[in-house]
Amino acid sequence: MNDLEFKHQVLDTLSESFCAAKWYNATIWLGSGMTTSCHHPPAHLVDIDRVRDNPRLLHNTDQKKNDRAKMLAGERPAGCEYCWKIEDMGRDAISDRVYKSKIYPIEALNEAFTTPVDQDINLRTLEIAFDRTCQFACSYCNPAFSSTWVNDIRRDGAYTGLVSDGRNHFTHEHSGAQLFGIRETNPYVEAFFEWWENDLHRTLQELRITGGEPLMSHYTWKLIDWFKTNKGKSSTRLAINSNLGTDVDIDRLLSSVDGMAIDLYTSNEAISQQAEYIRDGLVWDDWANNVERLLDSGQFRGIHVMCTINALCLSSLDSLLDCMLNWKREYGRDAVSFTLNILRFPSFQSPLVLPEHLKTHYKNTLETWLSNECDSEFLHEHEINHLQRLIDYLDVVKTPHSEAFEMPKLLNDFKQFYTQYDQRRGKDFVATFPELQEWYDSIQV
Ligand code: SF4
Repeated sequence: MNDLEFKHQVLDTLSESFCAAKWYNATIWLGSGMTTSCHHPPAHLVDIDRVRDNPRLLHNTDQKKNDRAKMLAGERPAGCEYCWKIEDMGRDAISDRVYKSKIYPIEALNEAFTTPVDQDINLRTLEIAFDRTCQFACSYCNPAFSSTWVNDIRRDGAYTGLVSDGRNHFTHEHSGAQLFGIRETNPYVEAFFEWWENDLHRTLQELRITGGEPLMSHYTWKLIDWFKTNKGKSSTRLAINSNLGTDVDIDRLLSSVDGMAIDLYTSNEAISQQAEYIRDGLVWDDWANNVERLLDSGQFRGIHVMCTINALCLSSLDSLLDCMLNWKREYGRDAVSFTLNILRFPSFQSPLVLPEHLKTHYKNTLETWLSNECDSEFLHEHEINHLQRLIDYLDVVKTPHSEAFEMPKLLNDFKQFYTQYDQRRGKDFVATFPELQEWYDSIQV
């Protein structure tokens, strides 16, 4: 059954807003005690007192139960706006609601649909972050997820002159994202390991560790060690996110996961100096070499490249797609896969801030790439669909999200942000993106 058939014949027959991720998937940031169903809805706080008695509340919060009730009634929870926006484009656009439900058996969907909403649900897929330690400070990230971003704000103060960033991503250290010191006891981490030992390792299908940079957290290595010393005790698939930066200990990773089949997720959406500009801390050649080292090792079930589609990556996204297709040709269709995730926050970095002629140009480039390669045996259906929905997005959607400030404010922030980013990080926007210079210079602040 293809994605569209699944939407019409399975998902929408339960309800037109039903998404299994609300029941079976979670991202949990243990440093801040926050959780959400997938990356799109804003995260919310887990009750620290209640979770000490019942670690399953790391996932089964009151808010998620309320959202489940809405989905059962066919109503749209506001936090899932990302999916509603895609679906409202028409053109049979496939939202993440489909992708994030299709991974579970149809019986599990039916079970979720018929379970009373006040009941705790066993997670099937979980992404967990222990802390925000990270050696990168990417332009679309912020201090909530990167200790290097914290240092940037500590050293140079708040970014100034931003008027559309209602969430103040770039003006303070986000101390709430790290409620406990790295060496302090964190009750959320304790609850997680209690849950894991008692229950979760039996029910969870996939555990994915994220960060920060997870390979810089000793809890990640503790979990990898658990899998090594408890071989056969859990059938949970382990996956690790890593920026695969220069100083990530690839040797330790390869020796630690020897004999385990794990998935590795990494991020990139551009190539060479443009990638290094967007993802500050990245060295393109080192990243590409590290991907190839992991592929050469044959120890990974798959290397998955997550592309965060922002205004600056579109000039070289097609080159990155070429690069990934070449890896597929060399190592196999499933050895490397990619997803194209359209950035919404911070809104001023959205591809939708670009002027019409540039969006049309990039849309045409991607259309050409897709028409040349869509019959390739190496592309997955979801990869083709992700490309098509990005093409549609560039063509149809006019504002990054419904609360987005009007375009002059987004353009002001785009120029303000990258001017200061250049000064703080020793970068040069115009030299890195000469194709954007005329437009960039024309933005008045
Ligand atoms: S944002 Fe979409 S994929 Fe995520 S939980 Fe909501 S409906 Fe599901």
